Amino acid sequence: MFAEVVESAGFGQIIPPMFEDLGVFLRLGEATDIVTKEMYDFEDKGGRRVALRPEMTAGVVRAFVQHRPLLPWKAWYAGPNFRYEKAQQGRYRQFDQVGVEVLGVDDPHLDAEVISLAWDFYGRLGLRQVRLVVNSLGEPQDRSRYVDALRVYFSQDLAALSPESRQTLERNPLRVLDSKREQDAPLVAAAPVISDFYSADAAEHFARVLAGLDHLAIPYEVRPSLVRGLDYYRKTTFEFIGAALESSQNAVGGGGRYDGLVEDLGGPSTPGIGFALGVDRTLLECDAEGVFGAPANPVSVFVVDVTGGAEALTLTHDLRAAGIASDRAYEGRSMKSQMKAADRSGATFAIIIGGDELASGAVTVRPLAGQVGDDRTQSTIPRTELIPMLKRVLPS
Ligand code: ATP
Ligand code: MG
Repeated sequence: MFAEVVESAGFGQIIPPMFEDLGVFLRLGEATDIVTKEMYDFEDKGGRRVALRPEMTAGVVRAFVQHRPLLPWKAWYAGPNFRYEKAQQGRYRQFDQVGVEVLGVDDPHLDAEVISLAWDFYGRLGLRQVRLVVNSLGEPQDRSRYVDALRVYFSQDLAALSPESRQTLERNPLRVLDSKREQDAPLVAAAPVISDFYSADAAEHFARVLAGLDHLAIPYEVRPSLVRGLDYYRKTTFEFIGAALESSQNAVGGGGRYDGLVEDLGGPSTPGIGFALGVDRTLLECDAEGVFGAPANPVSVFVVDVTGGAEALTLTHDLRAAGIASDRAYEGRSMKSQMKAADRSGATFAIIIGGDELASGAVTVRPLAGQVGDDRTQSTIPRTELIPMLKRVLPS
């Protein structure tokens, strides 16, 4: 479904390698947790330093620099990533992401489009409780003036900060805003806000992104403390928050604009924007919101054979040969138990074979709940007429 959503917007798939030269990921920045603390890196037999990918943006940008496709370049990806983390619900050492990157466009309409793709994807899954939070980190120079101001602000009251945040402050003052510790809350709440540091261009860009979201009727909350991990983020950042998970891992996805990354990997200065959605957390959210309905690939008919199972063996075989997906129950279960299995299978019809049917060479066709309107009347027909009849009534 993700592929459908993004391919309808002109994205092509890229399959980045599962591991890369360590240096590719180090470009993501010294102050980035996934690089400094969470990377699985090792030396191979040739003495090269390589790392399992902790995310996919770096590999995508590395491929871009190497192959230099025409701009704008819109790419999507899906696959596993690896991070050395404290594993718990919604936080694993191997987890899947789907995501997109667009290189070469600075237009705020693109920011709105990219956000809308993720929004539409969650909507198509049936999720109704995912919330969008957005922020802008301004231009790199706005951001660096803001970081200086934060450093000064937090340094004035070091004793009030948690020991963890004091450490974070040395590495990356922005990330202190991300602290989930209660002790830090009052200081974080009263911290300077990034919007006071925007250049005219940055303010204009952000206003146009928000206007774009308004046009698309996508609800959002502007959250000035949303800073996200990458050193490279600038201007628009966003996160999608699920309702199901604990607050320390309730982000089902996130993304933003970045620059400098293409240059740092040896390419020309190129704007970029992208997002990555956590598949595992999205599935937990789907579970919590109860959006899983019928099985993903329901069969068309379910054969209920209460005469021992030999009829089910031949009938399912004949049905499949005629192109009709069919399933059955095994081990000579009771009628009741087989009918339950038929309901669970998502099939349109149960085909029932009892003693009478067997004796007269017939089958009983019973429409299952939720199928073909509300008409649940069953009919008994000669077995030879079953396949032609099903072919007429089943959607091809
Ligand atoms: P968090 O703050 O929860 O650690 P993050 O900022 O590290 O998230 P990103 O690097 O932005 O996450 O990755 C995008 C998405 O991938 C996250 O929103 C989340 O849904 C998912 N994700 C990240 N790390 C994990 C993990 N260890 N296990 C499962 N999903 C993850
Ligand atoms: Mg993380």
